[in-house]
Amino acid sequence: MKLRFYGAVRTVTGSMHWLEVNGRRILLDCGLFQGRRKEAFERNRQMPFRPRDIDVLVLSHAHIDHCGNVPSLVRQGFRGPIYATPATCDLAAVLLRDAAHIQEQDVEFVNRIRKREGRKPFEPLYVQGDVERVERQLQAVDYGRAFEVASGVTASFFDAGHILGSASVRLEIRENGHAPSLGFTGDLGRRGLPILRDPSPMPPVDWLISESTYGNRLHPPVEDMEGRLEALVKETFGRGGLVLIPAFSVGRTQNLVYSFHRLIRSGRLPSIPVFVDSPLAVNATEVFSKHPECYDQEMRAILGRGDDPFGRGLVTYIREVEASKALNERKQPCVIVAASGMCEAGRILHHLKHRVEDERNLVLIVGYQAEHTLGKRLVLRLPFVKILGHEYRLKARVEVMNGYSAHADRDGLIEFIGACAGASRGIFLVHGDEGQSLALEQHLEARHIGPVDVPHYGQEFELVIP
Ligand SMILES: [Zn+2]
Repeated sequence: MKLRFYGAVRTVTGSMHWLEVNGRRILLDCGLFQGRRKEAFERNRQMPFRPRDIDVLVLSHAHIDHCGNVPSLVRQGFRGPIYATPATCDLAAVLLRDAAHIQEQDVEFVNRIRKREGRKPFEPLYVQGDVERVERQLQAVDYGRAFEVASGVTASFFDAGHILGSASVRLEIRENGHAPSLGFTGDLGRRGLPILRDPSPMPPVDWLISESTYGNRLHPPVEDMEGRLEALVKETFGRGGLVLIPAFSVGRTQNLVYSFHRLIRSGRLPSIPVFVDSPLAVNATEVFSKHPECYDQEMRAILGRGDDPFGRGLVTYIREVEASKALNERKQPCVIVAASGMCEAGRILHHLKHRVEDERNLVLIVGYQAEHTLGKRLVLRLPFVKILGHEYRLKARVEVMNGYSAHADRDGLIEFIGACAGASRGIFLVHGDEGQSLALEQHLEARHIGPVDVPHYGQEFELVIP
């Protein structure tokens, strides 16, 4: 069996791992690589293998850095089945349609410039038609049900507790008279996250590919989040201000709505106006409602009482542009949740533009902010911020709440890896900035868990049982 790493190595995006067993080629994830524009453009277009040579694709979850390049794979000739959990299939469809729309818009913008310069236009990375083809190749398989992905290879999905439908994948292989197993964490969630069940442990494996996003960081407890949210909202409303929350439309937005729902229902917050201003969030929330099989006990109890944890009736979801613009005129305190999570695009920009110069307002940051993003500048509380081409004085307050992170922290990773790969033949750390992956390698080795490797792009490993 051969294993090659074609993405999310020493970085966090573009998850893609290639496996050859009994002459069959299996791909684990096919994510979009995000980074510097030119590099991303080339990496996402040029597959490091012939897509038609791949027999089967297994997806861990629907985040775009794990499934966002599947339409390219299909566009370039991959015709095999794509296995994922039922919720991942539905969520991936919603996210990929949105991604295709962004790809089409992006290339249109670039082509306008190229046309002026008399240069040949680019093709979009992929279009809606490619996403429709992906949807036809998707095959849903429930958690815990073993299924054959290729001759001599059986797979099963374990709940990863990261986003709706997220799974860790365990492969059982029959090759040359041996029966080794290989695990892939996908992105590993954490205990106590709202809505979703906690991550399930995986039975021991011979080799494990593990994420390492927070390989060297510890998170504050999830339970503290609602108290903090309550206090910050009360404080802001008390001075007549408004709360703006930039949030990714899938996962983080639903968690926030769920927290507001609980705070209002329990009387800790009065019935305040909360707006979720994102068409993608509206679509994603519909998918969440369709998959109660992914919910934890508390969520089931809420549903059992006939209550709607996604707050329809309590929260106003906004799809139309006009309704979004109307919020700019609003003078009374309210909460606005809008994408994108790092303030790089989307409707949050318009809200920020109208609200950052008022010291009564609060910008509440609830997600990871990468370097050089507007979100990061807000976190740094720079005196001026550039929004849509203009400088604005940053007078609004900025607060950061990291507890909603959907990734296991260092101790969560060590616990999961130790339990299923404590006595393994090899652990490969992927999906982390280099420093995080290397630090986790040291933490694991200090606990005699290993051997551990932090692979490089394109590196191949021959996995054999002596
Ligand atoms: Zn993820």
